[in-house]
Amino acid sequence: MIPLDAPSRALVEEVRALGRQYMRPMGLESDRTGDPPPADHPFYLLCSRQGGLVSRTIDPEAAPDGAEVPQWQPFRAALIAEESAYWDRGVALSLPGPGLGGSALRSTATPEQSARFLAPFADHGRAHWAAMAMTEPGAGSDVARIQTRVRKEGREWVLSGSKMFCSNGARSDWVVVWATVDPALGRAGHRALVVEAGTPGFDLLKIEHKMGSRGYETASFALDDVRVPEENLLGGESFYESRQGFRGAMATFNLARPIHAAQGVGMGRAALDHALAFVRDEYPAHGRRRQRALERLADMRRELHTARLICLHAAWLARHGVTNALEASYAKLFAPPAVFRVVSAALDILGEAGVRNDALLEKLYRDVKILDIGEGTQQVQRVVVARQLFGFPRDA
Ligand SMILES: Cc1cc2nc3c(=O)[nH]c(=O)nc-3n(C[C@H](O)[C@H](O)[C@H](O)COP(=O)(O)OP(=O)(O)OC[C@H]3O[C@@H](n4cnc5c(N)ncnc54)[C@H](O)[C@@H]3O)c2cc1C
Repeated sequence: MIPLDAPSRALVEEVRALGRQYMRPMGLESDRTGDPPPADHPFYLLCSRQGGLVSRTIDPEAAPDGAEVPQWQPFRAALIAEESAYWDRGVALSLPGPGLGGSALRSTATPEQSARFLAPFADHGRAHWAAMAMTEPGAGSDVARIQTRVRKEGREWVLSGSKMFCSNGARSDWVVVWATVDPALGRAGHRALVVEAGTPGFDLLKIEHKMGSRGYETASFALDDVRVPEENLLGGESFYESRQGFRGAMATFNLARPIHAAQGVGMGRAALDHALAFVRDEYPAHGRRRQRALERLADMRRELHTARLICLHAAWLARHGVTNALEASYAKLFAPPAVFRVVSAALDILGEAGVRNDALLEKLYRDVKILDIGEGTQQVQRVVVARQLFGFPRDA
C-alpha cells in the first residue's frame, strides 16, 4: 500500500466508480465491435461535467511572483492512469482531455500559448480532446527521421506530409504536429505546431483497426499545404535554437512514459484479481492445485508491486521537476513485460476458461501487447538506458 493524500484517494475512488459503471462495459463493447465509443457518448459528457478527470490532475500553484499558475500533477495522473486502465485501458485513453497534446504543450509552449490552447478544456458543456502527431510511415522509433515539412510564408507556417497512429486525433480540437524545416538538419530541424481541427488541407485518412485497446481511436492524417498562423509555433522561433525542438519532443516522452507504464500496472491488477477470484471459487481449499496457484499469484503480485513503485517514482520525479529520462525509461521498460507475464500467468491459471474470446483475460492479453509499442518500444528504452551508461546527458 502506498499512502495517498485525501484528494488523491478521493479521485481514485471516483475513477473506480466510473470504471465499474461505464469504462469496463464500454471497453468490452468496443472490443466486440472493433470501434471506439463515439465522441458524443454520454460518458464523455459526464466526465466533462464532473470537471474532467484529466483536468483534475492540474492544480493552481503559487509562482515565485505570487501569481497562480496551473501545475500538472504527474503523480496523480499516474494514479488515475492505473485505476482507469484497471477497468479498460482503451477507454481510459479515450477520456476527454489534452492527452499527449497537453504533454507537448508542457514541454514546449509559452505560458500564453498554453493558456490559449487549454482554454477550451475549461468548457465543461461538452467533451474536448487534443492529440500529438509525431509518428509517420517512415519514422516511428527514430523520430529524428520525420519528413513532414514546414516552411514559413509571410505570417503563416505551411505544413505538408503525413502522420499516422495519432491517438484521439480525429476527435481532437487541435493536434500538435511535429515537422521539420529541413530533414538534412536532423533533430535541429524539428518544430512543433498546433493545427486546429477543420484547418483546410488537414485531412483524416483512416482510423486503424487494432488488435487490442480498441476503446480509443488511432488516426492517420494527410497534411496538404496546411496553413497555421505564426503564433501556433510552440515556444516561438527562439525556442528552437540549440536543438530545443528535439529536447522538447524528448521531454514530452519523459512526462508521458511513466503514465503510460502505470496503465500497465492497472491492467495487471485486473488480471490478478480475475485469477484470484477463479482460484478462490474453483479450486478446492487446501488442495495442492490451489497451493501451486497461490504461489504463482504471489509472484504476480510481487511483479506488479515492483512495477508500480518504478512508475510512481518516475512520475514523482517529474512532479518535482527532477530530470527523469532514465527513470521514465525504466518504467516503460519494466512495466509492460512484467504485466505481460502477469496476464500470461493468469491465463495459465484459468486454462481454457481464460482463452475463450469472450473472456476478459484474452482481451487483456491483446491490450497489453499494444501498451508495449506506444511511447517507445522495449528496444528503444534500452537504447535510452544504455546512453546513460556511457554518460550522455540525462535529459537527452
Ligand atoms: C496504439 C498506438 C497508439 C499510438 N499513438 C501515438 C500518438 O498519439 N502519437 C504518435 O506520434 N505516435 C503514436 N504511436 C506510434 C508509436 O509511438 C510508434 O508505433 C512507436 O514509436 C514504434 O514505431 P514503429 O511502429 O514505426 O516501429 P519501428 O520504429 O519501425 O520499429 C520496429 C522494430 O524495430 C525496433 N527498433 C527500432 N529502432 C531500434 C533501435 N535503435 N535499436 C533496437 N531496436 C530498434 C523497435 O523496437 C521495433 O521492435 C502509437 C502507436 C500505437 C500502436
